[in-house]
Amino acid sequence: MGKAARNRRSQRSRSSGSGPGAPRVVRGGTAEALEMVEQVSAETEMPCRATWIDDPLFSTPGRHAVAVRGQRAPVLLFEPQRILAVKDPVTGQGHELRVDSMVAAGWQRVPPRYVMTGLPAEGWALYRTATGVELCDPYGCIVAEGRLTPDPEWVSDAVSLGSVLVLFGPKLGIRVPPGRSLQSYTEQERAREFRDGRRAGLVAAATVAWHTSPPEDALMWVLLREGAFGLDLPPLAYVPLLNLKPSGGPHALGFASLDRLGREPMAIPVTSQLAARITATDVDLIPTDQPVGGFAAGYRTPAGTADPMFPGWRAAAARYGRILVITGPVDLMPEGEQTSPSHVIDVIRRSHGALVPLTADSAPAGLPPQPQPESPGDDGEQAEYSELLTAKLRSQESFEVYTADTVGRLVDRDTVHRWLTNLWPVACQTCGEPLGTKAELCADPPGDTSVMLSLHHSSCRASGATPPATAMVQPTVSFAAGYLPATPGQPSIRDFPVMVVNPSCEQLLLDRDATGGWRNASLDEFIALGFRRPDGDLPPHIPRIRAALDGDQLTVTINPDAPDGHKWTLTPPPHVRDLLRRRRGLAISVTTKALPALLIPDDLPGAFGDPEAVTGFTIIERPGPRRRPALHLPWPRTPQQPTADRNVT
Ligand SMILES: [Zn+2]
Repeated sequence: MGKAARNRRSQRSRSSGSGPGAPRVVRGGTAEALEMVEQVSAETEMPCRATWIDDPLFSTPGRHAVAVRGQRAPVLLFEPQRILAVKDPVTGQGHELRVDSMVAAGWQRVPPRYVMTGLPAEGWALYRTATGVELCDPYGCIVAEGRLTPDPEWVSDAVSLGSVLVLFGPKLGIRVPPGRSLQSYTEQERAREFRDGRRAGLVAAATVAWHTSPPEDALMWVLLREGAFGLDLPPLAYVPLLNLKPSGGPHALGFASLDRLGREPMAIPVTSQLAARITATDVDLIPTDQPVGGFAAGYRTPAGTADPMFPGWRAAAARYGRILVITGPVDLMPEGEQTSPSHVIDVIRRSHGALVPLTADSAPAGLPPQPQPESPGDDGEQAEYSELLTAKLRSQESFEVYTADTVGRLVDRDTVHRWLTNLWPVACQTCGEPLGTKAELCADPPGDTSVMLSLHHSSCRASGATPPATAMVQPTVSFAAGYLPATPGQPSIRDFPVMVVNPSCEQLLLDRDATGGWRNASLDEFIALGFRRPDGDLPPHIPRIRAALDGDQLTVTINPDAPDGHKWTLTPPPHVRDLLRRRRGLAISVTTKALPALLIPDDLPGAFGDPEAVTGFTIIERPGPRRRPALHLPWPRTPQQPTADRNVT
């Protein structure tokens, strides 16, 4: 079924039912009652009338309504034809559901004795349209609309005040009772009807902002690539609010306000009520309670299967297993790619969003949906895991390392203990799982002149010197950022920011030295890059290190272009971040003698300057001129039948 057909179907199902003037009595809480509420609430078109606060309608015996600031306040009356009367079984008190819901939304219930003005309803708006007026709630949904040609003077007053007093209720004296004519239904009788309405609690009022032009309804779907706004977001679909109104709107669908997006970390909820079905040309939002035949809103690529961007968007959606749906009342990119990023951000912050999982049949062939990796990415995960393991180690006072005779013979029994101070039992090098308080020391001779020492679980690999073919997991990298104090115990701007890294906690490479003994060769790759033993001076600048401070996160990349490069990411303490920004550089110490994640700040200078460590200096890259779009620019799309969607409401 095409979207127009679906919309027509949806429209038909909404407008079916008894017409005005056919009272029905149903029991509350039944499906029939709910259906009736839905039907009547969808009837937004109703008689309306524009007048001023000095209309005889508002005169009460002995009292007239007061003009606002010496000016006649313009008033607009909306009189729904059908009412949703509810009788409270306990108190016997009658209610009208739409009036009650407006009172709940910040409107005032007009008391019997007087009409008050100047009580604004936040976010509500009254628009002049081509044929009359339209009352919209803060979410841009039309609550009431009517045909009207307002007096130019009335419009002029509305413009100069910027607002209109709006009254809503079934007894405002607009319609003429059966058997009466427009001429014979007198002002006194209308005023009496209005008074009766107030006595019955059937009138809601608010001062509402006036707009001389129709609302800029969002009618365009926009698809944005993943990572939009420079945030870690899956592919995004901006959906006009009007499209989701028939499904209950953003609140009912479990969407959250995005007013803090990009300002602070915020969790975007995953909705359980919608699923996204993505085909080669379409994005359809399907209510999860109607997986077959259900349809909430949809979009088709204008270029069909020839669309150059859509396959990439779809593949990314499949990779994430979900899309971010944002819905709002205003077009996201009214001027296409020329739209200013500040407009886009502003619209997003006035919108609601939720992550919408993909239906099982959404994945393109060969791209099974995968759970989205949690945000920090591989480096962050690795750092977190390392932190977890070292925290475990921190709680241990000591650990035992078993050393077989074969290892002692290979390395030299007397010096084995010396090398143990360079090994940290974080993770088993066979299985990668945390080591406990006991580890087995193994030695692999990769060649005549070198040997690799490593730590393992007893159950994984017993201590010994084994054939060189044995595969091992990557050793744990542990790092920490701190500072060398200019004056001990007194943090100051003269302190120097440093990072201490152990690139290989559980593995140690030894090489034969000139005297026939062994030396620690684990840091040779860093010496090859220009790192030097610390000598008390500023370490040498290493051109092949890149360091960047992105927000609070420091990332150091060693040898970025090589496959065996390293990348370390962490969030330094606040004082260190300040120093990094001030100095625009940092010194790095690479060592196997310390487990940096275990170092307390006081120990850091000692570890940094350890004679067996090697040190280098790097400059923090200046962030380029603020990229105009942190927005990875998108490509806007217009749906096929915007006007059809519009009619649904
Ligand atoms: Zn193991």
